[in-house]
Amino acid sequence: MKAAPFEYVRPPTVDGAVAALRPGAAVLAGGQSLVPLLNTRARRPEVVVDVSRLPLAGVERDGAALVLGALTRLRAAETSPVVRAALPLLADALTRVGHVSVRNRGTVGGSVAHADPAAELPAVFLASDAVFTARGPAGTRTIDARDFFLGPHRTALAPDELLVAIRVPLPPPTARHGLAELSRRPGDLAVVGVFTSLVVTDGVITDARVAVAGAAPTPIRAHAAESLLRGGTPTPDVLAEAARAAAAETDPADDVHAPAAYRRDMTAVVALRALHRAVTR
Ligand code: FAD
Repeated sequence: MKAAPFEYVRPPTVDGAVAALRPGAAVLAGGQSLVPLLNTRARRPEVVVDVSRLPLAGVERDGAALVLGALTRLRAAETSPVVRAALPLLADALTRVGHVSVRNRGTVGGSVAHADPAAELPAVFLASDAVFTARGPAGTRTIDARDFFLGPHRTALAPDELLVAIRVPLPPPTARHGLAELSRRPGDLAVVGVFTSLVVTDGVITDARVAVAGAAPTPIRAHAAESLLRGGTPTPDVLAEAARAAAAETDPADDVHAPAAYRRDMTAVVALRALHRAVTR
């Protein structure tokens, strides 16, 4: 099948791109999700606004935060020494996104804006309390990750807003991350993925972040699991209890890939693996 006819524009500036956005428009970044949707006519935009050459790519440390331009290619972020040193959870999660060919084209902002509930980066940014910067006709605004993801492929971005940057507060150097996924095949979106970051001080867990992908309409923070972990000791029993709590917090649906009950049960298994990796790192 071929895409339905659409107008194609490639404004040379960010402001020009924002001016071209309106209901019925689609942003084209790396095209890894949009182009298949166009070709299957699942999306029929009136106009495609190509932003891929705008100067919104790059990764930098800004004090105690990591700032990623929305158009940073996934592979560039994955191989960035800055990302690896500052936010290894993100660097590791990036290696799980599709295949290298997908990551060579796909962008960090595209992954966030596409808001697939099973995608890695939305869950990592949720776990990390990231803040997204959007540019619209009225100027720039920021949106906390916890307010950004509204449902499968639905975000707080308005139709005339462009995601321009992602700011991630950095965890302390003593933080240890762990992630685990269950996928049907390597490179597939995960059935369930769990992304954790723990700080253990003198044998006590002083900070815990647990985010789950693939087990609810959006990525979720497993707050009950985090509460169980904080103040506890990282023993196998505590980790297992937290993993069960994370599973209880999910809200999965039946789909062609897995029944809801399976996703929930597997969340406990995958969360335990992720937590174990964090405490043994
Ligand atoms: P595009 O495809 O260009 O756009 C995607 C959507 O986001 C569109 O709706 C577009 O309008 C919107 N958009 C893009 N950029 C912006 C912006 N700056 N502001 C506002 N809206 C914007 N993803 C995973 O997470 N995990 C996987 O395992 C995985 N496996 C994949 C395997 C294959 C074979 C393929 C083709 C894709 C896979 N993906 C996976 C999806 C892929 O990672 C994402 O589609 C990609 O990262 C999206 O980025 P993009 O730049 O290509 O976005």
